[in-house]
Amino acid sequence: MNFLEKLLNIIFPIQCGICGKIGNSICDKCYNDLKKYEIKKQYEDLFFAYKYEGVIRNLIIKYKFHDKSYLYKTFSEILLKNKNLCKFLKCYDIIIPVPLHKKRLQERGYNQADLIAKEIAKKTGLAYYNNVLIKNKNIKPQSIKNIQERVNDVLGIYEVKNSELIKEKNILIFDDIYTTGSTAQECKKELLKSGANKVGILVLAKDYIN
Ligand SMILES: [Zn+2]
Repeated sequence: MNFLEKLLNIIFPIQCGICGKIGNSICDKCYNDLKKYEIKKQYEDLFFAYKYEGVIRNLIIKYKFHDKSYLYKTFSEILLKNKNLCKFLKCYDIIIPVPLHKKRLQERGYNQADLIAKEIAKKTGLAYYNNVLIKNKNIKPQSIKNIQERVNDVLGIYEVKNSELIKEKNILIFDDIYTTGSTAQECKKELLKSGANKVGILVLAKDYIN
């Protein structure tokens, strides 16, 4: 921690993102309470950390829609406390967040996936790029559509720029919520087409409703 960080810490002490207890961005009690939402099933190139329900779901809603951007610290911390995830991260060189369209980014002021991915990169030493995957079309929110519409919707809306950065590299795409997976899978396809060696997907919460 540098001087400025120490000073900020005194003025705005770090609090648990769930219960508000001062000291850490997630307290031990809240972290243990989240264990019941953890997804244990493992896949080779896909990692789902939590089920999108209960406390996790509420926290993500606060984070995305109620202007609580500071919660990225809580999310990155709970992810990095997961030993299986840390093992999974070792297979990758670069982490890339699923991008927002620039219009949506202006409205919200931040890309929720981007803040978490950047923090994970900072803590683990993975490279992080937000100038590789670009969303070039703004589409209606996915929550009001059926599965087929969602799949059709995302076709061709992501573009890869600066592809020399990802040539032969192992890339991890990060997204906050995975429902049908159409978004993350479309990003994966584009990265592979542009020369990535391997592309995995890391998701904070898997939505089983749809
Ligand atoms: Zn707490």
